[in-house]
Order: sequence, then structure tokens, then C-alpha cells
Amino acid sequence: MLVVMDQKATAAQVDAVLRAIEEAGYVARAIPGGERVAIGVLHNRGPIDARRFEVLPGVKDVIPVTRPYKLVSRECQPEDTVIRVGDVTIGNGHMVIIAGPCAVESEQQALTIARAVKRSGAQMFRGGAFKPRTSPYAFQGLGEEGLKILAQVREETGMPVVTEAMDHELYDLVEEYADVVQIGARNMQNFSLLRRAGRSPKAVLLKRGLSATIEECLMAAEYIMDGGNSHVILCERGVRTFAHHSRNTLDLSAILVIRKESHLPIIVDPSHAAGRRDQVIPLSRAAVAVGAHGLMVEVHHDPEHALSDGAQSLYPQQFEALCRQIRSMVELFSGNDIEAMSLAR
Ligand code: PEP
Ligand code: MN
Repeated sequence: MLVVMDQKATAAQVDAVLRAIEEAGYVARAIPGGERVAIGVLHNRGPIDARRFEVLPGVKDVIPVTRPYKLVSRECQPEDTVIRVGDVTIGNGHMVIIAGPCAVESEQQALTIARAVKRSGAQMFRGGAFKPRTSPYAFQGLGEEGLKILAQVREETGMPVVTEAMDHELYDLVEEYADVVQIGARNMQNFSLLRRAGRSPKAVLLKRGLSATIEECLMAAEYIMDGGNSHVILCERGVRTFAHHSRNTLDLSAILVIRKESHLPIIVDPSHAAGRRDQVIPLSRAAVAVGAHGLMVEVHHDPEHALSDGAQSLYPQQFEALCRQIRSMVELFSGNDIEAMSLAR
């Protein structure tokens, strides 16, 4: 349930409603909006009698929330969430481009790629230090050394860095270095990891699970928000289907549904969806066309020798071409009533 306060409600009236909700045995969460405050009533097991809150001073309306997810839903917050990471803005008309290798392999590798993607227009750098690999014999990432290299990349290029935390025990360490902590597809329903992310001050990039429904993905984001962290960026990265012409199937319509259901920004990772570089640029264009708030793309200067995901990594020149195309698309859309977008650089 959502208690919508009057525009003129005083802080004391908001406090009194928060108290009344807590006294009734629920959890109250104030959601400040542009014009008025709404209060989410959480942790109720069944329907709540709206009348006890409707009559309180300063309350304009009490709305039942019909979805299982609350804090992430548009019912709770009609306006888009905008997330700021350093100088980069994500959500509501700001297109973000995140690029970098699948894994950080060495200082020289990371810096070479970072300089190239920054020149082309990337605003954030990605690179895994802890890698979730199918095989225990495959390269597992450089660990803390990789995180230190990421910090160097940020220092030299000014780009914020995105990197994955694979379990809650390592979250403290990853959070120390990362600007945005990634929760990977395989961990989308790792609930102790989600709870840990909820206690973090750092933004979270939550990737949709390989076989997760949209509702499951939004419920995973709900865990993070329920913990108190509202800086959640969702990421569609393809789901598993019977198709063999790509590694996964990019679910473009998920972007439309998520934008309708949730106020959280949703970006697309075309690299893990495609699994092959010839599909990455066309899928990126498609993602922007349906309204994704950004892209996260794997790029490698020497993909033939990459320690992971070389086949899906763009060459730097291809990434440059992709950025040019995306900029043209953003310009095209910005004159359009449907969606005003600007590419922040
Ligand atoms: C990644 O982004 O490096 C990654 C492992 O992606 P996913 O979790 O989507 O497979
Ligand atoms: Mn990868």
C-alpha cells in the first residue's frame, strides 16, 4: 500500500503517518517525490485496512499496490529514478555507455582499452576482477590486483568503474574500489548478496538472470531497495532459449515492460546476449531504439588473445563506430516527442 501525502503536508504530519504505520506493525518507507512525499507500507503479509491511514492529517490518498514488488514499482514512484555516479547521469533521458574488457588481465591491457573507449565516447569503464566462469579451470580474474588496476584506470581516465562482486564475503573489498558494483546474471537470486548490496552506499548494476522472468528480476531489485539502497540499475543481457545462432536471446521487449513497471533505469548488455561480435552493433542499435537507458559493451584491443569472451568483444574501431551511430540515434530521438534523450559525455 502507498500513502500519498498532500502537497502541503508538513514534516510533522509525514512523521506522524510514518509512526502510525510502524505502530500498526508494518515497515514505513518515505519516498520523496518532486511535488509530494509518498510513503510505502512494506512487510505486510495480507491486505491492509486503508481507512486507518486515510483519516490522518496531511494524507491525500491511500493506494493499494497491486504488484508483488513495491519500492521498484511505478505505482510507488511514478517518475524515473536518476542515478549519478561521479559526473555520469543514468536514467530519464540520459544515455550511458559503459565499455571495457570482460576481465581485467593486466595494467597495460586495461589502460590501453580504457584510453581507447574513452576517446570514442564511453563514460564508464567495465572489467571483471572476480569472474564467474563455467569452468573452474578457466581464468578466474586477477582478484584484488584487478581491483587496483581498475582504481588506476579511474585515476588516469576519470571514468567511474563497474566491476562484479560474486559473493557477499567479498563485497566489502569490491565496494572499496568500485563506483558501481555489478551483480552478475548467475547471482541475480543470490539473496545474501542482494541483502549485502542493499546495505551499500554504492550503486548496483543488477543483471537479469539467465532464465529469470521480469517479475523475478524486479523482485531481486526489491531486495536491494528494501535494504535501503535505491541506486539500482537493471541490465538485460539476454536469456537462455532454444536458439543457437546467438549465445543468449536478447529480450528487447523486456525493456518496454520494465520501463512500464518500474522507475529504475534499464540498460542493455548486447555482448553477453550475442556471444559473437558481428551481432553486437545491430543489437545495440535495437536496444537504444526501444528505449534502453544505456549500453554495456565488451571491448578488447586484442580479442584473439583475450582471457575471456574474446569472440564477443568489439575491436576498438568497431566500438568507435558504434558510439558514432548511437550518438546519431540519440540526436534523432531528441527531436521526438516520444523520448527526449541526450548523450551526456
Ligand atoms: C559480465 O558482465 O562480465 C558477466 C559475467 O555477465 P553475465 O553475468 O551477464 O553473464
Ligand atoms: Mn564477459
